[in-house]
Amino acid sequence: MLEWGGESIPYLFVSRMRIPAVITIDGPAGAGKSTLGALLAEYLGYLYFDTGVMYRALTLVVLRAGLDLAAEEALETLAAQVHILVVPPTVADGRHYTVLVDDEDVTWAIRDPEIERNVSQVARYPGVRRELIRQQRAIAQGGRVVMVGRDIGTIVMPDAELKLFLETSLDERARRRTDERHSTGTTLPLPVVRADLARRDNLDQHVLYPASDAVILHTDGMTPADELAWVIDYLQRR
Ligand code: C5P
Repeated sequence: MLEWGGESIPYLFVSRMRIPAVITIDGPAGAGKSTLGALLAEYLGYLYFDTGVMYRALTLVVLRAGLDLAAEEALETLAAQVHILVVPPTVADGRHYTVLVDDEDVTWAIRDPEIERNVSQVARYPGVRRELIRQQRAIAQGGRVVMVGRDIGTIVMPDAELKLFLETSLDERARRRTDERHSTGTTLPLPVVRADLARRDNLDQHVLYPASDAVILHTDGMTPADELAWVIDYLQRR
């Protein structure tokens, strides 16, 4: 039985469903894509691949190298050189995967607020995106994967059979993020969290739209368990 926040999620008749080889989940920051993606992947026995970690890992390398974020060409070159690997968890500390950059475990380092502040700027450059998308497609080519990001249904995997797009109000996303931070002991006032999400929405606008064949899921008021149940139900009904 899968569990989420004390709620049990019953296994349904997975074998009766025709499950798409690739399922994409896109949407804005804080919409719960990662939580739903990880749950759905676990439920289906699929690989969970959060593409945001690649942009974050590259940003970490850029900042450590002291590169100017406006140096587009240098960032593109770095994107092609840096070796980012996402592997199953190597430490049992609540992580869903381990992120390695040139063999260094950066799983938690890429969650730093400094990365959060700069990642959208790094992710804006077409050359950077081209390179990371090439790597994302290579990881997904084996199928049986739940891929999470912003442009997965539109650009990275446009042929995916099931594309989900999460829509969640800014207020709800800010509230959830604030609660999450409380539970991990890192508190930030709600207005600060809200303003940062709004800033990232703005910077990510260029990739923040659903594919024309995406299924839109409005998640205000839903728990992750509700969302998973909704997706399983959708898979069974389609
Ligand atoms: O999803 P997450 O918040 O970890 O993503 C961090 C940033 O990486 C996003 O704000 C966005 O700028 C960028 N990103 C992207 N395309 C993706 C995934 C993430 O541009 N597929």
